[in-house]
Amino acid sequence: MLRLLAIHNGYEVDSLEVCVILRDWQSSQALRDQNYPPIPVLRLPVPVWPIEDTRRYLEERVRLHQEAAYGDTLPECSMEERWEKPTAYAVMKPSRKTAVRVFYNQQEAEELAAKTDGAYVQVRPGEAIRCARYCAVAKFCDQYQRELAARRSVVTELEEAQAA
Ligand code: SF4
Repeated sequence: MLRLLAIHNGYEVDSLEVCVILRDWQSSQALRDQNYPPIPVLRLPVPVWPIEDTRRYLEERVRLHQEAAYGDTLPECSMEERWEKPTAYAVMKPSRKTAVRVFYNQQEAEELAAKTDGAYVQVRPGEAIRCARYCAVAKFCDQYQRELAARRSVVTELEEAQAA
């Protein structure tokens, strides 16, 4: 989109990149791990779209914004857009610090716990990291608030089942 803007203002742009500042970069990790960035800055190339694709994308975004502004429903954000980590169900035993096994399906975890002596299911609530920490509209967002309520009720249900 910035390339399109630049082209409309008389600049030629043949390649694109983002310059990333790694705010949680750790020098100790850089010394230990050869695959870790050696300095807290990275230059990452960005694929250059054909200009027609960029225009189509721009028009689609404008259409979505107009629908959101004047329509009744907002488009939902995808898992990818929300940087979502799903809820996990860990089968635990009192004698172990680590899980016997971790599932992303509650039923499978409960089945294994039922077959394993002394085991119980520990819920590790997932998190939409962007919603929880970075999105400026999270407290007004129906999608996120609905999900928070649903997650709270799953945890309560399991806690009640364990207490019974
Ligand atoms: S809080 Fe809502 S708008 Fe913001 S990223 Fe999450 S789902 Fe999307």
